Amino acid sequence: MQTYDIAIIGSGSAGTMAALRAVLNNDTCLLFSGTPQDKKRSRALWVKKVENMPAHFNYRRGIEDPNSEVLKWISESDFRQKLTHLKNIGVTKLEKKSDVFEIQDSKGAIHHARYVILCTGVMDVQPLIQQKIEPIFPYANAQAIDYCLRCDGHHIKGKVTAVIGHENSAAWVAIMLHERYGSPIHLCLHGEEAKIEAETQELLDLYGISVKAEAITNIFGDEKAGLLEAFEFSNGERLEVQMGFVSLGMIVYSDLAKTLGAELDERGFVKANATGLTSIEGFYVAGDVMAGVKKQIYTAWDTAVNAADAINQKLRAERRAKKLSAFRNLNAPKV
Ligand SMILES: Cc1cc2nc3c(=O)[nH]c(=O)nc-3n(C[C@H](O)[C@H](O)[C@H](O)COP(=O)(O)OP(=O)(O)OC[C@H]3O[C@@H](n4cnc5c(N)ncnc54)[C@H](O)[C@@H]3O)c2cc1C
Repeated sequence: MQTYDIAIIGSGSAGTMAALRAVLNNDTCLLFSGTPQDKKRSRALWVKKVENMPAHFNYRRGIEDPNSEVLKWISESDFRQKLTHLKNIGVTKLEKKSDVFEIQDSKGAIHHARYVILCTGVMDVQPLIQQKIEPIFPYANAQAIDYCLRCDGHHIKGKVTAVIGHENSAAWVAIMLHERYGSPIHLCLHGEEAKIEAETQELLDLYGISVKAEAITNIFGDEKAGLLEAFEFSNGERLEVQMGFVSLGMIVYSDLAKTLGAELDERGFVKANATGLTSIEGFYVAGDVMAGVKKQIYTAWDTAVNAADAINQKLRAERRAKKLSAFRNLNAPKV
């Protein structure tokens, strides 16, 4: 059985960039894209218009479309033998056996790799409207309800906006949106107990950000056009809004790292050094699943390149040492 230089788990922004860098470094690479279920619960699939970085404005699907182009290019390039791409296949088990990782895929097959880069990402927690997540989707798909301040905060310019969340971080999203764009903002606790610090509450008061305590029970608007009009609360109150922002935290897909024994932070993100190396030798992370980095496409790219290059440096050092040793044996004086 072949032992690949690198196995990459996940092919969103980080995984695709890791695969590109690995093959351009001339290392053999096994890429798992994830099962349809893995893809459905990843952020990559849901990202539409990307407006906060160059060269992405014309894509309909700002992550999936450029990633498909990259993988197609590799499959037609001089480096095509370097990449084995397992489409629609996920990883279910990861173990380290001496200096090789044993990887079990979603079809039960076993693979081996010297190094692993985990790029499984995160997902934003969705608000339940009358116990269902579906009511939010038509508006989220049309980006009338957004999740990422740095990616999509600018959509609220000139629009009455409701931020859904009850933690201090949600209150800060409301404050930052108001400070940046001057739009009228409401903070919807959605029936949860507020966990807002006194200083943060003072800023909400300063900016006239109203706090709605009741649960949202209905969303009104034109679902087909994705135009948001109002939220209705459990007390019957109706709030006219044109934009929504969800700030309920993230689900981190770090289970494989956890079972391997890698160190996680208190929120479940995988701790790593600047090259993406975790507490387990040979096991790297890149993209959203990594602790302490911006949750953005360009950060996913940068962390992926750091990991692939660090691994290549180790592989080259090993190969160099072997060649040097053989060279020295060959040239050793005969006695
Ligand atoms: C609505 C929305 C809009 C956004 N807009 C922007 C924007 O405009 N600009 C920007 O810079 N960022 C944006 N982001 C953030 C961006 O989506 C993420 O930062 C980026 O996708 C992170 O890349 P990643 O590779 O870490 O994770 P993802 O891109 O989410 O990819 C995760 C991958 O892991 C795979 N996977 C998961 N589990 C397994 C498994 N067990 N085995 C194998 N594969 C697995 C999935 O199939 C998927 O391929 C947005 C996010 C959201 C939610």
